[in-house]
Amino acid sequence: MEYSRQEIRRQRHLERKRRQNRLIVIVVLVIVGIIAGFLAFIFAVSGGSPRVPKVTGLTYAQAGKKVREAKLVIKIDSQQDTSMIKNLDKLKVVKQDPGAGSSTYEGFAVVVQLEGVPLTRASGSSTKAQATAPSQPVQASSPAPAPSASLVSPIQGNPIYPFTKDASISCGHWPSGSQDYPYFGAPRDGNSRTHAAIDIYPAAGVGAPIMAIKDGTVLKIAPFYTRASGEVTYGVLVDHGDFVANYAELQPPAVKVGSVVKQGEVIGKVSGTEQLHFEQYVAGTKDWTRGWYGTRPSNLLDPTEMILKLI
Ligand SMILES: [Zn+2]
Repeated sequence: MEYSRQEIRRQRHLERKRRQNRLIVIVVLVIVGIIAGFLAFIFAVSGGSPRVPKVTGLTYAQAGKKVREAKLVIKIDSQQDTSMIKNLDKLKVVKQDPGAGSSTYEGFAVVVQLEGVPLTRASGSSTKAQATAPSQPVQASSPAPAPSASLVSPIQGNPIYPFTKDASISCGHWPSGSQDYPYFGAPRDGNSRTHAAIDIYPAAGVGAPIMAIKDGTVLKIAPFYTRASGEVTYGVLVDHGDFVANYAELQPPAVKVGSVVKQGEVIGKVSGTEQLHFEQYVAGTKDWTRGWYGTRPSNLLDPTEMILKLI
């Protein structure tokens, strides 16, 4: 059988068309592959876990900015006594932990040491530090350690979310306009009330121990907040001498009103809210506020900077 010229032309045309279609499919596949590879690369570089930036050599203010941009928090080594230093911002960072490039998670604390700040031992760990330190000749002339005013962290380890305003907004855990932001002064109840505390989320979650940041006396224990599930959470108001703290949203605590608590002593456990709601007041305060409406109560303090140094 012989094809007509017309039939042959038609066959050739169809063949060309098929080749063209195959070529288009191949080109599309290659482009899709390139885009997918590019996206995977971008995610590997920028996504997932934030990397610790290099901050040694920078001032404390510059280092803080850089660390916060990486969605991390900055903290001064608790062994450095900064209580006598007026302007930390201009001091140079001489040491950082973890080192630059380390992989972490959002809200992780980068601990720095600042130039010219004396090293003292945190009072809560002094005995342990002495016991485990390599034996060194004790010099009779060495000055006695200054009475330490240092505080200890109320939680174990790093919190899982940041609690500063900028970091908690940018960390992405809470949607824009949220009424659950953990920072001091955050809006509550449809912006009608203001958050009087910082909310600190220990990694261990429900049941995580909460420690006294300083020696103190328990002034008040009372139901603080009732969860939708019906769980009643408690506040423990502690007189720490130069300030008063409310450790709130805890399970029914083991301590009693009038109990003397030592620094580092467990005063309660985190409830189903998975957070420590921490309020700070001026010395002499006898009761807590329920968040404030309108003007901030004159006895209420912002604990953010103090706690940042401990966590
Ligand atoms: Zn709170």
